[in-house]
Amino acid sequence: MTKPRQTVAIVGAGIGGLTAALAFARNGAEVFVFEQANELKEVGAGLQVTPNGLRALQALGLTNEIAKASIPADAVVPIDAMTGNPVTRFDLKPQSPRYRFFHRASLQALLGRAAQAAGAKIKLGVRVTAVSPEGLLQTSKGPQKADIVVGADGIHSVIRQFCDPDAVAAKFTGQVAWRGVVPIDDTPGEAQIWMAPKRHVVTYPLRDGLLNVVAVQERETWAAEGWNHADDPQNLQSVFADCAPALSDILARLDKPKLWGLFRHPVAENWHKGAIALLGDAAHPTLPFLAQGANLAIEDAYVLARCCDEKATIRDAFVKYQGLRRDRVVRAIEAANTNAKNYHLSGFKRQVAFMGLKTLGAMAPNAFLGRLGWLYDHDVTA
Ligand SMILES: Cc1cc2nc3c(=O)[nH]c(=O)nc-3n(C[C@H](O)[C@H](O)[C@H](O)COP(=O)(O)OP(=O)(O)OC[C@H]3O[C@@H](n4cnc5c(N)ncnc54)[C@H](O)[C@@H]3O)c2cc1C
Repeated sequence: MTKPRQTVAIVGAGIGGLTAALAFARNGAEVFVFEQANELKEVGAGLQVTPNGLRALQALGLTNEIAKASIPADAVVPIDAMTGNPVTRFDLKPQSPRYRFFHRASLQALLGRAAQAAGAKIKLGVRVTAVSPEGLLQTSKGPQKADIVVGADGIHSVIRQFCDPDAVAAKFTGQVAWRGVVPIDDTPGEAQIWMAPKRHVVTYPLRDGLLNVVAVQERETWAAEGWNHADDPQNLQSVFADCAPALSDILARLDKPKLWGLFRHPVAENWHKGAIALLGDAAHPTLPFLAQGANLAIEDAYVLARCCDEKATIRDAFVKYQGLRRDRVVRAIEAANTNAKNYHLSGFKRQVAFMGLKTLGAMAPNAFLGRLGWLYDHDVTA
């Protein structure tokens, strides 16, 4: 007996929500996406999509669109931010599929187009305020009923409290990040990591002659968590004023930086309740130091849709989904938490770390990829 056609309501048209919309629609579900924003416009900056995320996008038929919308990464290059000299270079060309750099808005737009072409209906300007375990949503445009509700509503999720009411509050990490894009004439297809004591900057190219910049500082002063808080460019420039001119020049051109307080969030204990399941940042926001926020959301979306297609009941599907995802997500988030400290060393520890990186780059250039094999080689489509 075939299953009746499922109605799936997805809360949030971010990267995870739109990937889920595409995957569920491809599996034959009737899909509605509710997004509070009135339009999917150019907000955010760059996103790195690593092989583990790319495999899921390719399995959803997006290989050609990905190639048009992004840039392949040739290498990761750690740089001494004080001198401007590269410490070493890790070649990414042997990866398959190869790591790619996207503007967040381009990835969101291509996912939105593909989801709509597969039959999903995206309702903009609709804010979801509550949901019951029976799948009844309260929205700013009235109630809606669905067989499955997917909470893909990001870091400040409303849906999470209905699955995981006892979640512990997020804690400020003592780190802030500025981000933005600057126009650039020509730059290699590299992620450059400029490391300085208690600070670092990551730069990588995007399409259309842009360079994505994320600058991180350890500091006591709190900053709000969000993607759209403007800051005075002088604040950023003064933090890196003693660094190499090549870096100061880049930062001097970032005229509208956004400041973002970095918080550590506990991973949700319960990712589902009744008809509701969580994915992406709604279940497990991560720090940006391993570039996995979007990748984990894409993986979640793919696995959730497949479990719902394969299992006879929604409950069995959700149990399987959480079982497949939670340990992997916890491991990725812990690895991201550790990474920041490695970039910010000073004194003797810094010299030893640079020596180690140099040796690794010279003797075992594949070790960089090998160390993260558990992350990048994972294939949710297998
Ligand atoms: C505006 C914005 C800019 C970002 N910029 C960057 C960036 O430059 N670099 C980077 O690495 N990461 C960025 N991110 C985060 C990154 O996209 C996510 O960490 C990652 O893609 C996980 O995606 P997600 O789908 O779980 O959540 P998100 O991509 O955050 O998407 C959540 C979506 O849900 C919507 N939403 C929230 N609450 C409701 C509600 N109650 N009802 C209806 N809709 C709701 C939001 O408007 C948003 O569109 C940004 C996120 C946002 C929202």
